[in-house]
Amino acid sequence: MNLQTKAIHAGESPDLLTGASAPNLVMSTTFVTGADTTFSVEGLEENEGWIYTRWGNPTIHQLEEKLAALEEAETAVAFASGMGAIVALLFHLLRAGDHAVVSDVAYAALAELTNDMIPDLNIEISKVNTADLDAVQKALRPNTRLVYIETPCNPLLRLTDIAAVANIAHSAGAKLVVDSTFATSIATKPLLLGADFVIHSLTKYAGGHGDALGGAILGNKTDLVPLRKKTAIRLGGTISPFNAWLILRGLATLPLRMRAHQENAWTVAKYLENHPKVKRVIYPGLPSHPQYELAQRQMKNFSGILTFQVENGQEMARQLAEKLQIIHYAVSLGHHRSLIFYLNSSDLLKTSFKFSTQEQLDSWHQFAGEGIFRLSVGLEDAGDLIADLEQALNSQPQ
Ligand SMILES: *Cc1c(COP(=O)(O)O)cnc(C)c1O
Repeated sequence: MNLQTKAIHAGESPDLLTGASAPNLVMSTTFVTGADTTFSVEGLEENEGWIYTRWGNPTIHQLEEKLAALEEAETAVAFASGMGAIVALLFHLLRAGDHAVVSDVAYAALAELTNDMIPDLNIEISKVNTADLDAVQKALRPNTRLVYIETPCNPLLRLTDIAAVANIAHSAGAKLVVDSTFATSIATKPLLLGADFVIHSLTKYAGGHGDALGGAILGNKTDLVPLRKKTAIRLGGTISPFNAWLILRGLATLPLRMRAHQENAWTVAKYLENHPKVKRVIYPGLPSHPQYELAQRQMKNFSGILTFQVENGQEMARQLAEKLQIIHYAVSLGHHRSLIFYLNSSDLLKTSFKFSTQEQLDSWHQFAGEGIFRLSVGLEDAGDLIADLEQALNSQPQ
């Protein structure tokens, strides 16, 4: 099956009892079983009959099957949020005395978690600009268990060469984790490039409509069957079947939506590049992106997120929040609605991203200057989005 057919049919089949063509939403937390069902997850086979929804649920299972099909992964484990998936994976892979190399710029909650809570468990973390392959190589130690990257990374849209970092990580016996939320499985399939685990925040493009939190880990059965038992079941970050059902429905149109997101983002990026008040636009689909060559090589779709810089960003943020009529001034991304948010560099460098070298700081400023607007271009008409930006950028500040 090709991608668009998989997006619609993978993980689904008509209901055996009723013939229902669309997936059922099974909200039941418990399932009637035979008397020989064991009570512990030890000895439990993957999805062998349903027992309790924290262990597995038919609707969540359908979501996991569709996610795995789209990513060309052996299997997937869904979680209540992207952060739920990330924490479960770190908890599964790392022990006291281990070392991990983590991208110095990544989703803020992950950055903060690895600044203090993980080191408090006696796990050493090196924050590295993973776009710099020498820096990744140099950060490796005999006890390095994993390398964690995000590409494009949130919020800079800086890219990391997945195949190259996979080679570096594996040569040191470490696993490679790729947070592929921004790229989606339509743009990039990190497992096929050598990664061991892929993370998606399903809250973003996968669900695509801004109405359900979710997350997933994708990879091999050898890794993920024990991970499900040890972390998903015991830590309890299970996704609600209702959210799984909404995301399952969102995934059916993921390939179509990503094509439209890319087209709209490219059109808006070109408009912003020519706007007199805009100093800089970063979008992986533009030749002006500092890593355009890698973007073309690694991404089949450039996704829908761009950043831009203006003079006095903080003031412009107030103006845009007040004047934008269609685009919502709000965090998050990947929805059918366009979303914009201002990220002030000095704030973020204090709270989330703590660099140890001048090169790291320089790379931040190369991509973000004093601050960036992160614009998640939605599926509205591109002309309407441009008109909205035009009136808001040019209106007089209050
Ligand atoms: C949003 C996001 C997360 C966290 O996902 P939640 O579903 O909000 O917990 C992780 N990584 C990236 C790149 C994200 O954009």
